[in-house]
Amino acid sequence: MDYDVFIVGGGPSGATAADDLARAGHKVALLDRAGRIKPCGGAIPPRLIADFAIPDHLIVARISTARMISPTGRAVDIAIENGFVGMVDREDFDEYLRTRAQQNGADRLTGTFVRIERDSTGTRVIWRDKDSGQERHSRTRLVIGADGARSTVARAEVPGGDKIPYVIAYHEIIKAPPANANYDPTRCDVIYDGAISTDFYGWVFPHGPSASVGMGTEESSTDLKQATARLRDMAGLAGCETIRREGAPIPLQPLAAWDNGRDVVLAGDAAGVVAPSSGEGIYYAMAGGRVAATAAQAFLASGRARDLKLARKLFMRQHGMVFKVLRRMQDAYYRSDDRRERFVSLCHDIDVQRLTFEAYMNKQLVAARPMAHLRIGIKNLLHLSGLVKASYT
Ligand SMILES: Cc1cc2nc3c(=O)[nH]c(=O)nc-3n(C[C@H](O)[C@H](O)[C@H](O)COP(=O)(O)OP(=O)(O)OC[C@H]3O[C@@H](n4cnc5c(N)ncnc54)[C@H](O)[C@@H]3O)c2cc1C
Repeated sequence: MDYDVFIVGGGPSGATAADDLARAGHKVALLDRAGRIKPCGGAIPPRLIADFAIPDHLIVARISTARMISPTGRAVDIAIENGFVGMVDREDFDEYLRTRAQQNGADRLTGTFVRIERDSTGTRVIWRDKDSGQERHSRTRLVIGADGARSTVARAEVPGGDKIPYVIAYHEIIKAPPANANYDPTRCDVIYDGAISTDFYGWVFPHGPSASVGMGTEESSTDLKQATARLRDMAGLAGCETIRREGAPIPLQPLAAWDNGRDVVLAGDAAGVVAPSSGEGIYYAMAGGRVAATAAQAFLASGRARDLKLARKLFMRQHGMVFKVLRRMQDAYYRSDDRRERFVSLCHDIDVQRLTFEAYMNKQLVAARPMAHLRIGIKNLLHLSGLVKASYT
């Protein structure tokens, strides 16, 4: 056998799985096709920085305020208490994670996944080496598919892997202007406005010398470049130099199964795991890589294919409820400008701010504040039913 585990995809999910498995002493391959920076806003919560030991030098901006902007242009500033939202540049962040996995013992391979073949001697990954252009065959006991949204591994190997619903997200990396009345390098702007996106949101995320300005939508008829031009105009960023323009799908629904019941398990975007409402995927990809590594170790030790189910089970036990609440929030509030106006109004509430930020920063719904949950539930109902007007008092 060449490898215990062959990992396809060296983004946050694959690199995390590779690092965990290599540290545990397994023989691991980490295949990435390389050559493309993942399009991403790059916002990460403190829980990620702590859980995955992210060094300071990768954090290019520390965000202390989130500004929610409604369709009528009203703004609610949410101070980020007890910490900050970190911003990372994916070119450096992903490379750091891959290098760390390699230093801990993973074999780094550069090339493109082609297919999986099986015969009486076992499982082989067929991949094309980037330098030579030659097909290579690597024998392995297990494959982790961490090859992102529209994963080739998921489509070929896991039922439903070809039917994940997506938001298409597009952004432009611009040269950041000096701080001014519109632009604050320590503030993220989140724009809920049907003129930018009829079913998701737009953003301005500072990254030190640059910034990511973009939007997402499930609506295939939307002209993403036009919507982003409008957003840049509204945000006073139309005149800034554009460094890159890029887009990619964000999956919005975890798959019902993450393994093929035999020798493949998925992680990260490949498993459909991005938080609804926010589109936050980096933390969940890394958490997904970690549970895939845990399931892989159980499988390698026992030889039982059913141990691969552990990956989804562990993930959903920890994050399933947050995903459910965020899905309901997106369904309820991202449907019309009236609902978006109400949503931003609700964000003004101090209980909503505390709970949503605790959920974002630390990835936990806080059970210790039952009265706050009750108050939010009631306010939510009043806003959705239209019994209270959207307000900013
Ligand atoms: C525009 C945009 C903005 C976003 N902003 C944020 C944000 O601010 N914060 C946040 O948390 N999330 C954000 N996300 C989501 C986040 O980027 C993803 O959820 C996250 O990158 C998923 O990590 P992953 O490792 O599962 O997949 P990916 O990061 O997509 O990594 C997959 C890897 O697999 C490799 N690969 C793919 N196919 C093959 C193949 N056939 N052979 C070999 N290698 C292959 C690719 O090269 C890539 O390195 C954003 C997404 C988009 C599109």
